[in-house]
Amino acid sequence: MRLILLGPPGAGKGTQAERLVKKFGIPQLSTGDMLRAAVKAGTPTGAKAKSVMDAGGLVSDEIVVGIIADRVREADAKRGFILDGFPRTVAQAEALDALLARTDMGLDAIVELKVDEKALLGRIEKRARDMVAAGGTVRADDNPEAFKVRLDAYREQTAPVSAYYARKGTLKTVDGMMPIDDVTKSIDRLLGA
Ligand code: ADP
Repeated sequence: MRLILLGPPGAGKGTQAERLVKKFGIPQLSTGDMLRAAVKAGTPTGAKAKSVMDAGGLVSDEIVVGIIADRVREADAKRGFILDGFPRTVAQAEALDALLARTDMGLDAIVELKVDEKALLGRIEKRARDMVAAGGTVRADDNPEAFKVRLDAYREQTAPVSAYYARKGTLKTVDGMMPIDDVTKSIDRLLGA
């Protein structure tokens, strides 16, 4: 099973990806998580990405495409994977198509979580509060200023990715405003799981 989860920041992609990981036994490939790990490890990629990420902007296509190209070749991705946070631009979607064609891999589903934009900031703020309550560190971009930039990046650069897959006829949409378990059920139905 190879699938893509699309949707704005705070749509619930990570939550649903976690459940799909358990159900299918395939890894979640989150470019956000991978980039945060690179920042933490102090790699050259992390150093390049940090300020852009903290401000809420998009890291260059070249960097994220390179990360994904390496990652899908790893052993645990042989049986499939869930892409979360990638592709985020049409150029990334095209690069992914080329990569999958080269490696003879196809996509089984592209699922978009549709969420009312007005609900998103509240979700991000709740995530930050929950993180503090759990004694963790709040993401540098989980604040209203960076969130505004993230939402703008989504509208301008990532919404066209949904249109790209819709044109190909491969996009499936799920109402991300439903309770978490209902969203999971809808995704399961779409996947025939
Ligand atoms: P979100 O909560 O918005 O889904 P992520 O954890 O997926 O956030 O990503 C956090 C940040 O990492 C993004 O705001 C961006 O700076 C960077 N990033 C992640 N994936 C990509 C990508 N595919 N292209 C460009 N930048 C990315």
